[in-house]
Amino acid sequence: MSSPLARTIGRLRPPPRPTLLVAHLPHRQTQAQALRPIHARALDYLQNENEDWTASQRSVRDAISKICTDFPDAYWADLDAKKQFPTELSSALARDGWLGICMPQKYGGKGLGISQAAVMMQTISESGGGMSGASSVHMNVFSLEPVVKFGTEAQKQRWLKPLIAGQERACFGVTEPNTGLDTLKLQSRAVRSETGDHYTLSGQKIWISTAQQAQKILMLVRTTPLSEVKKPSQGLSLFYTTLDRSAVQIREIPKMGRGAVDTNELFFEKFRVPAEDLIGGENDGFKMIMHGMNAERILIGAEALGLGFAALRRAALYSREQESFGRAIGSNQGVQHPLADSWMKLEAARLMIYKAARMFDEGHESGEFANAAKYLAAEAAFECCERAILTHGQDGIDRDMHVERYLREVFIPRIAPVSREMICNYIGQRVLGLPKSY
Ligand SMILES: Cc1cc2nc3c(=O)[nH]c(=O)nc-3n(C[C@H](O)[C@H](O)[C@H](O)COP(=O)(O)OP(=O)(O)OC[C@H]3O[C@@H](n4cnc5c(N)ncnc54)[C@H](O)[C@@H]3O)c2cc1C
Repeated sequence: MSSPLARTIGRLRPPPRPTLLVAHLPHRQTQAQALRPIHARALDYLQNENEDWTASQRSVRDAISKICTDFPDAYWADLDAKKQFPTELSSALARDGWLGICMPQKYGGKGLGISQAAVMMQTISESGGGMSGASSVHMNVFSLEPVVKFGTEAQKQRWLKPLIAGQERACFGVTEPNTGLDTLKLQSRAVRSETGDHYTLSGQKIWISTAQQAQKILMLVRTTPLSEVKKPSQGLSLFYTTLDRSAVQIREIPKMGRGAVDTNELFFEKFRVPAEDLIGGENDGFKMIMHGMNAERILIGAEALGLGFAALRRAALYSREQESFGRAIGSNQGVQHPLADSWMKLEAARLMIYKAARMFDEGHESGEFANAAKYLAAEAAFECCERAILTHGQDGIDRDMHVERYLREVFIPRIAPVSREMICNYIGQRVLGLPKSY
């Protein structure tokens, strides 16, 4: 049984702002510059004192924090248990235009960068929404980047506006059962009709998130068989089209964690897709989908980071309040030091995430940093979620304490969209100059 005190902490509302420590001002530093809380920052709910963030990032943090306080941990725990999609959060974000944070203003977006979108996704996750909160809007936030970059004006008008307004939800259909991370081996086919006005798609996709909710799907399929192309990256085409449920059978996959957001198998045969739903040139789909990969890694890393900070906050609060052997359990170094270590690792990952995001926004090649940021954030968050459970002892697996939900969800950014091993392969080959190992 959980102690009454522990259960109270489990339902804690955001604590008051911590006391400011302003002693020992360095020479010539003004009092205003030094006014930031350095004491117990990890306890502060959605603190906004990162001096390395720009004014624009801080204003995103403030705005998203305000929205997220209406969706506390209890909301997420309830939807997780009921396996119910969090439509209220996406509606609230859409109302203020946040679903279009990275989309051009011309179509209703805010025209901001990945540096701001990462703040938004970290905040949603850190508020207690975790991967359920983040994944419920992730696709709207960034995945139509190939349309922004390569779509025609008519396609942008047709597709971006309803997505940004939250009237349509999209899912992302790349992964297939027999290909895993080896995307170039995709087997689903699209065959163009003799009249040229449509394609017929047949095949299977797996692990497609939000397909139960989505009206649209962004889909990568083969238009030229692998045996007929010079390079395996050729012959794939990208479509954005209506997810026609009379032609596509959608079956939900029961899974561990992120109960509020569905993941599915898709089976399709004779799925008729209008030719006007093809993005860019036929057979050029792979390079278009690659375009958004680094940004996606940065965003998933930011989502993982949010979960890590949420777990750390709960663990620190609990270990300050819960007593054993006549004193707070956090008085013991065995409890305190792992949490201190986690804060350092999360902060280090945070620096890498926002460095990669800035590089991406400035147009630099940012592959190694985007991959490293996702890796470091997911690993630091995983370790912290595990430590949060152990800090809570028996209460750690009590659903009302929320940390067990965080741990179930934090596996996702370790696995997807690219695994830890493939990131190490990438760094080994591209940064260390070692032979390709696979
Ligand atoms: C919750 C969730 C949601 C998802 N949502 C979507 C979605 O919306 N749309 C979509 O298209 N996909 C989605 N995915 C799929 C996701 O992108 C894949 O799970 C991910 O790419 C990993 O694929 P895999 O495990 O099948 O890889 P596999 O290639 O089968 O790899 C399995 C394991 O083997 C390791 N491995 C494989 N090859 C190597 C190698 N050469 N060297 C070292 N290790 C190797 C991998 O690292 C991994 O640990 C989702 C996945 C999850 C878990």
